[in-house]
Amino acid sequence: MAEAVIALGSNLGDRAGNLRAAVQALDALPQTAVLQCSGVYETAPVDCAPGDGDYLNAAVRLETAMPPALLLGACLGIEASQGRQRPFRNAPRTLDLDLILYEGAAQTDPWLTVPHPRAAARAFVLVPLWELYPDGAAPGFPLPAVPADAADGVRRTDLQLR
Ligand code: AMP
Repeated sequence: MAEAVIALGSNLGDRAGNLRAAVQALDALPQTAVLQCSGVYETAPVDCAPGDGDYLNAAVRLETAMPPALLLGACLGIEASQGRQRPFRNAPRTLDLDLILYEGAAQTDPWLTVPHPRAAARAFVLVPLWELYPDGAAPGFPLPAVPADAADGVRRTDLQLR
C-alpha cells in the first residue's frame, strides 16, 4: 500500500455535498481507503473570471494499492460522474480532484505530474496539507511554509467532509 494525497475543490452547485460525495467515492475505490480528511476551507478563486464563486477546498490522505495512473484516472471519473465540465481553462467546477503526492512516485508527464507542480504555490492546497502533516513531512513533498498574506485568504469553515 502507498500513501497518497488528493486535494479537492468545488465552486459550483452544492459545494460541500460535492466534496463529501467525492470522499465517499474515493473511499469506495478498489484497494483504497480514506485515512484522514482535512477541514473544509473557503477561498477566493485564483486566476478566474470576475464574479466566479468562492471555492470550498480540502485535502484527504489515502492509502491505496492502485498505481498512480489508475488513481488519477479514477479521480477524473469521479469528477465526470459529478458533472465536471471543462468549457475553458479555470472554469467554475462542481468538483476538482488533484493528485498532490503519491508515496514513492515522482514523474513529470503532462498527463500526470507528481508531486503536483502547482501545489507548492497554492495556499488553498498547502493549508489543508499542513493540517494533515503538522510536522511538514508529507511523503516525497516536504511542505513549504504558507506565505502569511496568502494564508489569510484561506478561511476555515465549520463544515466537515464526513
Ligand atoms: P484540470 O482540468 O485542472 O483538473 O486538469 C486535469 C488534467 O491535468 C488531466 O488531464 C490530468 O491528466 C492532468 N494532470 C497532470 N498531473 C496531474 C495531477 N497531479 N493531478 C491531477 N491532474 C493532473
